[in-house]
Amino acid sequence: MDHLDHSHLAANWTDVRRRVDEACHAAGRDPAEVSILPVSKTFGPEVVRGAVALGLHRFGENKVQEIREKSGPLADCGIRWVVIGHLQTNKAKDVARLASEVQSLDRPELAEALDHRLRIEGRSIDVLVQVKTSSEESKQGLPPAGLPAFLDELARYDTLRVRGLMTLATHVDDPAEVRACFRQLRELRDAAQARGHELPRLSMGMSGDFPLAVAEGSTEVRIGTAIFGRRPAAGSL
Ligand SMILES: *Cc1c(COP(=O)(O)O)cnc(C)c1O
Repeated sequence: MDHLDHSHLAANWTDVRRRVDEACHAAGRDPAEVSILPVSKTFGPEVVRGAVALGLHRFGENKVQEIREKSGPLADCGIRWVVIGHLQTNKAKDVARLASEVQSLDRPELAEALDHRLRIEGRSIDVLVQVKTSSEESKQGLPPAGLPAFLDELARYDTLRVRGLMTLATHVDDPAEVRACFRQLRELRDAAQARGHELPRLSMGMSGDFPLAVAEGSTEVRIGTAIFGRRPAAGSL
């Protein structure tokens, strides 16, 4: 297996689940409320197969191209692929064929393109709306002010089952600043629910910041590094 042997992967997985449980207890929450989405980006099919052997069946990827490359060799595994990265509309066809869920839905044109392709495939998928809670220029996501109108608009696509919101916190050391991003997502969700949108899921928290996200109500943490190890540096793939 490339990068990581099996016992290492098993130990990492157990450790991450234990740390997420601890974060739940610290926040007075039931660990059953918080699931872990393993993020397998940059790791090859054999590593993912090792994770499947541990009982994991949903994997987050930030590039549709990687889902294409891995879904063939792993076709026997019954994996549900979750798109968590910025999505160009010209990738909608592959998403409609291969993904079970998109967490990075952030604009009307993308919803339109996904709906079109999902109709052709005769499928529907779960989606989360990615909201930009960080001030960083590089971060993707819908501006918070646009959320109410976007949610109203999504109601007309029966191929897209809107289940919640997703965000990436600002990448800084100050826990208060990171936590404020997660709090903002929860408050946006609460406001939308008060307007009648049912949004049970909040996908927030990664390897470096998940305890703060759990404290703010995350229902799903997206964990790459802490499970699979460090990714190869960009460009060296
Ligand atoms: C890579 C990635 C993650 C996981 O990051 P780690 O720090 O490795 O846990 C989570 N969410 C998104 C959107 C990502 O692209």
